[in-house]
Amino acid sequence: MPLNGTHFKNLCDIDLRISTFDVASIFKNMTSKLPNTGTSIFTTMSQRAAKHGALNMAQGFPDFDVSQELIDRVALHMNEGRNQYPPSAGIPDFRQAIAEMHSHHFGTSHDPETEITVTSGATEALFSTITALIHEGEEVIVFDPAYDSYEPVIELQKAKTVHLKLSDHDFTIGWQEVVSAITDKTRAIIINTPHNPTGAVMTDADMLALDKIATEHDLIVISDEVYHHIVFDGAKHRSVLQYPELAKRSVAIFSFGKTFHATGWKVGYVAAPKEITAEIRKIHQFVTFTTHTPCQFAIADFVRNPSNYEYLPDFFQKKRDIFLDGVKGSRFEGSPASGTYFQLLRFDNISKESDTEMANRLTREFQLASIPISNFFADGHDASYLRFCFAKEDNTLEKAAEILQKI
Ligand code: PMP
Ligand code: GLN
Repeated sequence: MPLNGTHFKNLCDIDLRISTFDVASIFKNMTSKLPNTGTSIFTTMSQRAAKHGALNMAQGFPDFDVSQELIDRVALHMNEGRNQYPPSAGIPDFRQAIAEMHSHHFGTSHDPETEITVTSGATEALFSTITALIHEGEEVIVFDPAYDSYEPVIELQKAKTVHLKLSDHDFTIGWQEVVSAITDKTRAIIINTPHNPTGAVMTDADMLALDKIATEHDLIVISDEVYHHIVFDGAKHRSVLQYPELAKRSVAIFSFGKTFHATGWKVGYVAAPKEITAEIRKIHQFVTFTTHTPCQFAIADFVRNPSNYEYLPDFFQKKRDIFLDGVKGSRFEGSPASGTYFQLLRFDNISKESDTEMANRLTREFQLASIPISNFFADGHDASYLRFCFAKEDNTLEKAAEILQKI
């Protein structure tokens, strides 16, 4: 069975038709709640990749499969009859296993009963968190290039997204600029480390600066840490959960889609202090109520063995390096990603086209799909970067590099 997204061609087509449909065209008194939102760039580029038979290094998903052992465990729990609603907050033993992983990996201790909530992917976690905590008229600081799931949910709360930019080449946060952007309406800051799309990883100094600012200004921190296991060159992931004062005002969001190469399973979770968790659970119960039972049981078994995730930095660093070695000597340029499974490459030596034109041309004429980074900027800022997902078989990476050598 193809794993490169081509088997979803028809679903992508349907997605596009829905998003171009405007409620105002059938109901006179109804306007769209998200008038500025169209189909996501990930769907769009996957659809283009399928149309042109291109290698899909655009949307972030592996082209290799989930561990057979994990698949067998899901089947085992299904066959043993664990198929009905689990508790809304997640199976207790799964939450316990997550708390144990955090203690092993971050050195933190959480009460799984009151501080961990299983969600249907990080997307649901973000939706439930932002909906629970952000009110009309409040402001939320977001750093561009920003993942696409933050702003629409902020907008649904009738709150305002305040966009600051990461620095152009090393993608760091200017903390002085953050302080200057804070007003009496600022309620929260959203961070993402390791960072999609740039691959940047926040340092201890960043976390200390964030800790100080959030405490002084009484802000909530929403920390998207879905790539926390995927950091390179000896770098360490810093979680908001590891800073005791910061942890008291933070929500950390994770996804097993990334950790176990199972983006389609949509199993994630939220770790937050119990008062915040209680508010998030109020929303969560009306969004999905709960998450796929057999997957929760299976992942609980799997996550108890650290060797099932401790290999990830080496595994993905090798893939990053195969891709970067293959691209060496071409006219594309990029500093190695410090984390995630995304590599940015800059093409300003090659063409003055916009990044969208370049990504479309690469897909159409060279059968290689990537993501143009201007889509992650509210103001469409275009510094000639394309994002390539290197969660791919080694031969896919070699083929992609060969294509880039020709351009
Ligand atoms: N945040 C970031 C930064 C992501 O890259 C993704 C997924 N690609 C998500 C959240 C959503 O994760 P999930 O697929 O578990 O909903
Ligand atoms: N997070 C994935 C990416 O960055 C895409 C997820 C999606 O398609 N919504 O490519």
